[in-house]
Amino acid sequence: MKKTLLIGGVLLASAAGGIWHANQNWSEPKVMPVAGATARDWHPETFWYEPWGASLVHKGMDIFAERGTPVVAATHHIIISENDSPRGGKNIWALGPNWRLHYYAHLDSIAEDLGWYIEAGTQIGTVGSSGNAKGKPPHLHYGIRRMIADDTRIDDSTLGEQKAYWLNPIEYLEPVIVN
Ligand SMILES: [Zn+2]
Repeated sequence: MKKTLLIGGVLLASAAGGIWHANQNWSEPKVMPVAGATARDWHPETFWYEPWGASLVHKGMDIFAERGTPVVAATHHIIISENDSPRGGKNIWALGPNWRLHYYAHLDSIAEDLGWYIEAGTQIGTVGSSGNAKGKPPHLHYGIRRMIADDTRIDDSTLGEQKAYWLNPIEYLEPVIVN
């Protein structure tokens, strides 16, 4: 199943707006997206790590795990796209609360019959090394993008102006990280 991110985003953002207006208390629970992962499973400097090839910096976190380990939704999601692309491999973009887009990449498999709305903790796939992670140790690339820029996050680092759009997933997951 292939959907178009932009068109889907616009349509689903309207739907999401409806949900949020209908339920102003829609919470943002957080779940570690790789089952059983602890702080030992990623490099502490994984976010904005450089150099990072054509991307220059690494705009997410890599959580290493055995191939086939369950990948679950880090929070409540409206699924926007499921794709297989040369770079991200099998990947999912999903909208979460507070207009944040969550990106799960290099999956070994994507769960079948994923509904358009899933709750935090729902399995969405398994850890793999698809896309440009082929031949590398299996890991989940997890990124979180703001739909509304936060200019206070801009700094002098490489591509620092893009920090207005990218959250550090380690900071986001902080409440559920097991050391
Ligand atoms: Zn990565």
